[in-house]
Amino acid sequence: MKLTCDILDTRLSKPDVIIDATLDRLRNKFVDRRKKHLGYPYNLDFDAEPISQFGEFLINNLGDPYVGSHYGTEVSCVERDVVDWIMRAWECGDPEEYWGAVGASGTEGNLWAIYLARETLGNPVLVHSKEAHYSVPKAAKILRIEALTCEADHTGAICPDALREVIQANRHRCVILALTCGTTMKGAHDDIASCISVLDQVGIDPSRRFVHVDGALNAMVLPFVDGLPSGIRPSFRHGIDSISTSGHKMIGTPMPCGVLVVRREHVRRVASTVSYLRSDDTTLMGSRNGHAVLAIWNRLTRLGIAGFRHFARTCIERADGFAGALRSESVPVLLNPCSLTVVFPKPSERLVNEYQLACHGNCAHAIVMPNVKADLIDRFVGDFIAEWPCNSRQKVFS
Ligand SMILES: *Cc1c(COP(=O)(O)O)cnc(C)c1O
Repeated sequence: MKLTCDILDTRLSKPDVIIDATLDRLRNKFVDRRKKHLGYPYNLDFDAEPISQFGEFLINNLGDPYVGSHYGTEVSCVERDVVDWIMRAWECGDPEEYWGAVGASGTEGNLWAIYLARETLGNPVLVHSKEAHYSVPKAAKILRIEALTCEADHTGAICPDALREVIQANRHRCVILALTCGTTMKGAHDDIASCISVLDQVGIDPSRRFVHVDGALNAMVLPFVDGLPSGIRPSFRHGIDSISTSGHKMIGTPMPCGVLVVRREHVRRVASTVSYLRSDDTTLMGSRNGHAVLAIWNRLTRLGIAGFRHFARTCIERADGFAGALRSESVPVLLNPCSLTVVFPKPSERLVNEYQLACHGNCAHAIVMPNVKADLIDRFVGDFIAEWPCNSRQKVFS
């Protein structure tokens, strides 16, 4: 897209005029695109007003959140509050035993967790399902860790039997197991408890393993669901090592960001062995975005547990209604239990663009986030059905 307006000649117009016109144009586009957004797991209903007054400050949380820096315009105390809140949601027990930080994204959390895992285990193999987010194999590539893919079932969850086979074949090695709480395409939840028992049964004891849970979206949904099967709950009670989530997904922030929580022993090891110059060099990035910390804190504090429970309940209900409406027109739909991700056959390019759907092969998905209300769902279902059954009727979820 050409950024500046065609009517403006950048050689003749004053910068102020160019800037105003360009920003106006962007703003109008964003207002329009936000209204019809269905495809990405972003909670666009956030309230950024209370933190907008900080736009004039460079807020930089340099270094370890528990140490801080001499740069005065920082919010590491707020960051520790954010991490404490999330540690409770993920059932950390004694917070002293855990470490957490706000980073640039869910991807950064995955990369840093897998780095800590490698530093802990020496020369491990990383195992993840084929439905894992691409940032997981990417982290393995960056870190030069051998990565093995394991099959997932048709719902998108890791197959414990397939996992057993892969682990069995590598039983003499140390293993990093990267599980997913809410897969990107199908919104599936790997059963954390069953996967841990596979490791136990094959004889990969806790000293030879590191289990990371990538919970970019649903690690901020499942803790707030009533009657959740305990195996899929993103909880440190399973004996896992780390969980990461994205701030701009269920929490809802005006900038991409993420939170990682990890057992403190792993961070301590890195702080003392790798970085002998600065024992507080425990984050991937040196400078970190303090605005993101304020944005997450504003959301957690305002919404409280009750707010997230409300999100979880209403979004799951709406996703059920969405799936039901498509099914009643005999559209094949996949919707995992306690998931917000509705998978259906890929519609026309026009609808894919209009609703900003994410597609994979002949499937597309919509994600029912808190800003996706009944009117948007109805409008999309109407548009979809209008072109159905011109869509391919092939078997879609294989
Ligand atoms: C979105 C997503 C990520 C990446 O998170 P970012 O914050 O976009 O970097 C990782 N894993 C899963 C399962 C995701 O859905």
